[in-house]
Amino acid sequence: ALEELNVIKTASIHQVPKDGSELPLMEAFYTIQGEGGNTGTAAYFIRLGGCDVGCHWCDVKESWDAEAHPLTPIESIVETAAAYPGKAVVITGGEPLLYNLGPLTEQLQARGIKTYIETSGAYPISGSWDWVCLSPKKFKQPDPSVYPFAHELKVIIFNKSDFKWAEEHAASVGEHCKLYLQPEWSKAAEMTPLIVEYVKNNPKWRVSLQTHKYMDIP
Ligand code: SF4
Repeated sequence: ALEELNVIKTASIHQVPKDGSELPLMEAFYTIQGEGGNTGTAAYFIRLGGCDVGCHWCDVKESWDAEAHPLTPIESIVETAAAYPGKAVVITGGEPLLYNLGPLTEQLQARGIKTYIETSGAYPISGSWDWVCLSPKKFKQPDPSVYPFAHELKVIIFNKSDFKWAEEHAASVGEHCKLYLQPEWSKAAEMTPLIVEYVKNNPKWRVSLQTHKYMDIP
């Protein structure tokens, strides 16, 4: 069944134009960034469909199949984003780096909108970014070319062994990259106390929580 799913995903991703003029848009909404270095700030979220990383704890599995989400001209995405007072856009997924994000990010920046991305880093960077959040996933490790672009490394802690794994990625990012440890939501009760102790002992790290879930907003 997994093989079958992979075939579907590969086929559907190939239908997305390589020039970045249209992207499979799953949803877009104006909210507050809940996690990481820009926590608490207003932003327009653009969630692109398509992901082949396969995290078993993924909370947006409905994003995986790109074909399930309509190919949308980037002009209409930019037009809608520009109507909101918060001049920042977070491009997330799915895995947004499956696509050419150059034209979308250039058009957003030309309208005075800051461009932020949330990525597993599984594919090389495309696009022009004011903030890159690299959140590596065990199931498909980051492409080595992505590490130098990261403003923020956000490692999701699902079990105790993930602290060691987090340090391996921290060794690959640039010296100005901010380092965050974030409990996976379903394991938050168990992992948050471990993260608190870890950060107290290793203060180059910071705690990140999914505060939007506490605020009950998307
Ligand atoms: Fe889900 Fe993100 Fe993992 Fe893809 S990379 S499976 S969207 S958590």
